[in-house]
Amino acid sequence: MATIRADDLIDSVADALQYISYYHPQDFIEAMGAAYAVEESPAARDAIAQILTNSRLCAEGHRPLCQDTGIVVAFVKIGMGARIDMTGHEGQVLADLVNEGVRRAYQMPDNRLRASIVADPAFKRANTRDNTPAVTHVELVAGDAIDITVAAKGGGSENKAHFAMLNPSDSVADWVLSVVPEMGAGWCPPGMLGIGIGGSAEQAMLLAKESLMEPIDLPLLRARGASTPIEHLRLEIVDRVNALGIGAQGLGGLTTLLDVKVRDYPTHAASLPVAVIPNCAATRHVHFRLDGSGRATLAPPDLSRWPKVDWAPDTNVRRVSLDTLTREEMAGWKAGERLLVSGRLLTGRDAAHKRICALLEAGQPLPDGLSFQNRVIYYVGPVDPVGKEVVGPAGPTTANRMDRFTETMLGTAGLLAMIGKAERGHDAVDVIRQHGASYLIAVGGAAYLVAQAIRHSRVVAFAELGMEAVYEFEVSDMPVTVAVTPAGESVHESGPAAWKGRAVRIPVVPA
Ligand code: SF4
Repeated sequence: MATIRADDLIDSVADALQYISYYHPQDFIEAMGAAYAVEESPAARDAIAQILTNSRLCAEGHRPLCQDTGIVVAFVKIGMGARIDMTGHEGQVLADLVNEGVRRAYQMPDNRLRASIVADPAFKRANTRDNTPAVTHVELVAGDAIDITVAAKGGGSENKAHFAMLNPSDSVADWVLSVVPEMGAGWCPPGMLGIGIGGSAEQAMLLAKESLMEPIDLPLLRARGASTPIEHLRLEIVDRVNALGIGAQGLGGLTTLLDVKVRDYPTHAASLPVAVIPNCAATRHVHFRLDGSGRATLAPPDLSRWPKVDWAPDTNVRRVSLDTLTREEMAGWKAGERLLVSGRLLTGRDAAHKRICALLEAGQPLPDGLSFQNRVIYYVGPVDPVGKEVVGPAGPTTANRMDRFTETMLGTAGLLAMIGKAERGHDAVDVIRQHGASYLIAVGGAAYLVAQAIRHSRVVAFAELGMEAVYEFEVSDMPVTVAVTPAGESVHESGPAAWKGRAVRIPVVPA
């Protein structure tokens, strides 16, 4: 019987979470490199280049790949012959040990990670401040070691999970093809889909999530050919989804999926439960084994195997001053046009918008010094800075969560433009058009690279909201793409429409 010290388990979880905060899995980075090599859509290629460059910068600088450092999910498989020595942790249970590892990892002074977890989710939504608790799944297996896989799952991709109870005669592939367009780009493609088939409702979701921990092996599968119905299903879904033309960040392009993973389990004769969960550009997971010999060691990856892609601002694109921006100037922008913006931005996301709009709708003044008149807002919740950083990784968050506030922000507060990620809803696009405003996107999953453009940062209002406070950033040559023009043209419609059917010559399900 192997005895594993509780402290080794805690330290290993903490080390693993730090490791995945800045190292992409090798298989993911190689698949992204391959996608970059074949991508023909200039906008999608630029986005992938930013993600790859961001990945290298994070690996070298040991800073988070994304400002959303995720909710921790731990899969713990305990050998029937293993025991945990709880000395110093009497009275605690396994989840407490995992949570202590999370707490230490997210509060590591040299690479402090963003605390994103809120308790009392339906009501107070109070941040727990240390990113605990994790979601811990425990299984008893054969053997006398403990196998642990930890993942840090971004909210943008987790929010796009779908589940359905299909009829037994329904097609799983058709259902997946019907939900992927609904996911939009908020899950920051290119990435993977995890699909769980069978079991019960909750087990299908768990199968989907755990399948995402498997390495990307699509090129191998293509090379040797599918030999099982599940392998055929994987290839069918990859090809049909990529034929939709969604592309990187939903800008239109050849690669939306790098791989599809499928796990199944026997189910009731009357049922066909199916779950799909996407994994985003910030794919973060690692596996380690504890056999009683001490804490796990995770070797750093060989960075010479990172694709040789060094994104730099394109000097030929339009440069824009945020300090002198006007509606007349924005009227000349084209959907899909890349810009480099400089000047002062205000930030805000869900909690700040809720407060701002409540004040405005009640006819109350905004906090001293806060005015959105002729300003541009960036939807972001940055990581706290360390060392000499102005701000930590600060990529965009999903914009359509702010759709319900858009009329008030544009019409009452006087905002000119917004920067976020992924598509806006039809109503929000209409509001943008009515006000002659604009919506721009930055690349989700390139947060550390984007942060290099931020020269100064100060809190303007709602400091108590932490990462959700309103900041003013001064940026220099921040790369963005015009996603909705003042005329109401959306690149998330025109881009995929232009690239639909070009990835592979097979029929696609109408969106
Ligand atoms: S890459 Fe996109 S979906 Fe993934 S964690 Fe970052 S912002 Fe969220």
